[in-house]
Amino acid sequence: MSMIEFHDVEKYYGKFHALKNINLTIDRGEVVTIIGPSGSGKSTLLRTINGLERITSGQLIVNDFDLADKNTDMNRIRKNVGMVFQHFNLYANKTVLDNITLGPTMVLKRPKAEVEDSARELLKMVGLEDQAAKYPSALSGGQKQRVAIARSLAMNPRAILFDEPTSALDPEMIGDVLDVMQTIAKQGMTMVVVTHEMGFARRVGDRIVFMADGQILEDESDVAGFFDH
Ligand code: ADP
Ligand code: ADP
Repeated sequence: MSMIEFHDVEKYYGKFHALKNINLTIDRGEVVTIIGPSGSGKSTLLRTINGLERITSGQLIVNDFDLADKNTDMNRIRKNVGMVFQHFNLYANKTVLDNITLGPTMVLKRPKAEVEDSARELLKMVGLEDQAAKYPSALSGGQKQRVAIARSLAMNPRAILFDEPTSALDPEMIGDVLDVMQTIAKQGMTMVVVTHEMGFARRVGDRIVFMADGQILEDESDVAGFFDH
């Protein structure tokens, strides 16, 4: 069953044609990596999926919501579709634990004690159970990104979008973040990942989408084959 469907999608920023005739279907549980040169529209494509950018025309269905419909409640999309950014976007004045519990308590109105228990479980899963009381400024980039991933998971999303999640990290931090992403992938999460990490694309991705100049030039399920040519 499909989680994300683009049909003939176009996106303009003013006169600039950022997405051209995008047709792409992503199934539930699929891990799709998006690669391509800088400025090719990868981030724009990702941001349309959770409504951070509106499409100009065509059809975009995400978790059965119609994103081209002006009446669709974008807050509901963002509850269903998490996003992990290059620069973490953690709340600087909240502890690691509070960064994770804020969404589930404030947005989903779940009970605080229960939310804290699951937040500590998530911190364990990302290898940061000892860091709960710290503030983001005390963490390395790799640790911050793992907190951001835990925060996204705490909302129990149907899919998670990753926008160059390792591009701002020192090389020695990247492996830990990719390991966490691999764990989530194995648990069956639908993931769309914009990345330059070809090793991740090859090992973890079910599919590779190659973009250039606002278009999808290749959409390849034969990941090993993609790297052979
Ligand atoms: P990528 O992620 O592949 O680097 P982007 O999706 O960020 O590409 O950008 C694609 C093109 O759209 C770029 O030329 C960029 O300058 C342009 N662009 C992105 N966001 C905006 C915006 N908010 N307003 C105008 N142009 C934008
Ligand atoms: P889930 O979290 O299981 O996706 P929701 O309660 O968020 O369940 O929504 C269930 C379905 O109801 C959505 O997939 C969507 O098709 C429809 N729906 C509910 N509210 C809205 C809304 N405000 N706008 C558009 N569709 C909606």
